Amino acid sequence: MTTPGPTIIRECSACGKHISQHTIGSGNTFGARFWTDGKRNASMLPDQLRLVKCPHCNTLVWIDEQKQIGEIDTWGARTGDADKFPEARSALPPEFQDYISFLGAGLSDKEKEHYVRLRVWWEGNDVRRESGQSTPLDSFEVQNLRAFVTLLDEAEDNDRLMKAEALRELGKFAEAEHLLATEFEDELLEAVSIIRDLNQKRMSAVTEMKFE
Ligand SMILES: [Zn+2]
Repeated sequence: MTTPGPTIIRECSACGKHISQHTIGSGNTFGARFWTDGKRNASMLPDQLRLVKCPHCNTLVWIDEQKQIGEIDTWGARTGDADKFPEARSALPPEFQDYISFLGAGLSDKEKEHYVRLRVWWEGNDVRRESGQSTPLDSFEVQNLRAFVTLLDEAEDNDRLMKAEALRELGKFAEAEHLLATEFEDELLEAVSIIRDLNQKRMSAVTEMKFE
């Protein structure tokens, strides 16, 4: 099961109003589904978004960088803390279009760009995950993925596998094979084998990975 963590109250740097950030105390990945693009759908361990939309002014903000003004523990109702911030509203997940506009404005921090481009990749693939259809990447997704691979470090096993997967989805099968034919740590071998098999069959769609 998932146990909630404290709710952190922050002040939006754009409008000054209060945003509540719900955190998770603990969870697990039981029953999770894993995908070749690295996305994990785990209902017992929901995704914690770092870039969120302010529910008051719709500005995208990095939640951990917004000034913390309070914290309501898991049983806030009991302590009365929950009443201290009546204006606070929950942070919203950005829409696909929000990410696109955000990238359009330019990001100087590579680590943040990595985060946003990974999100864009995953969100684009969510449509394919839900429909089960392998629709081709659109021009924005292609551009995003091409930029994303430049942020990955081939010397790191995780990054190299992710890069191979991105190249496979871009239809660059020879380049992907070149990376997949290298040595990986044991933990990744099953995923490498699944992705390499798809790559050798020249299949480019995101695919659910079922481990033995
Ligand atoms: Zn705001």
